[in-house]
Amino acid sequence: MEKTGNVEKEIRSVMSEHPEILFGFTDISYSDYAGEYASALVFAVPYGEQLTPEDYTEERFDRGIQAARTVLESVVDRIEGILRDMQVKYWIPPVAQENEIELRALFSFKTAAARAGIGWFGKNDVIITEKYGPRVRLSAILIDVPFEYGIPVTKGRCPEECTKCIDICPCKALKGRQWEEGMDRSEIIDYQKCNRMRSAFIPKLGRKNACGLCLAACPFGKQA
Ligand code: SF4
Ligand code: SF4
Repeated sequence: MEKTGNVEKEIRSVMSEHPEILFGFTDISYSDYAGEYASALVFAVPYGEQLTPEDYTEERFDRGIQAARTVLESVVDRIEGILRDMQVKYWIPPVAQENEIELRALFSFKTAAARAGIGWFGKNDVIITEKYGPRVRLSAILIDVPFEYGIPVTKGRCPEECTKCIDICPCKALKGRQWEEGMDRSEIIDYQKCNRMRSAFIPKLGRKNACGLCLAACPFGKQA
């Protein structure tokens, strides 16, 4: 029990040096990894630039994501060091989707973020935080230790009348539904439509288009 408390204390101490990063803990008894790990530590790192449709460009959006990734990597490195030293079992799930058919990651950072109380699924199927809106990079570490868990968010908090993300989507992939826990992703977004449009840029960019217009349009976090 003492070890458990110390792990949490050490992690919170690292996070206190990064007040800009939102984070929380959730139990993962709902996930495929329940038998192997007790919890997930979930991070939401603000993008380097909090873009709006007025100043959005693909390059700036991509740069902002890379800046968040750099911060994230350094924090995760330090926490990994702590977990190794304390001989705690952990695993960092990959960001990448498992395949191009299901387009689902092995472990959903978004679901874990909602359960950790970091934010809700917006009408754009992205986690919306009060502070930064959807302009955050998510990550998680699965850790085989129980923690003080956040209060899960189970319902969308998008204003009923807001349709900014839906209106700006170039391929009309968003369906305008307010999220509730347990809802299938397909009720909110036609993921294949979004993916097809973004994949069409691979010959030109050597990667999918980041798009991100449905993030830039969100009124939450615009002032951050
Ligand atoms: S990323 Fe772009 S294409 Fe995909 S849902 Fe958002 S605005 Fe639409
Ligand atoms: S733009 Fe509006 S509807 Fe879309 S995610 Fe943001 S608050 Fe929700």
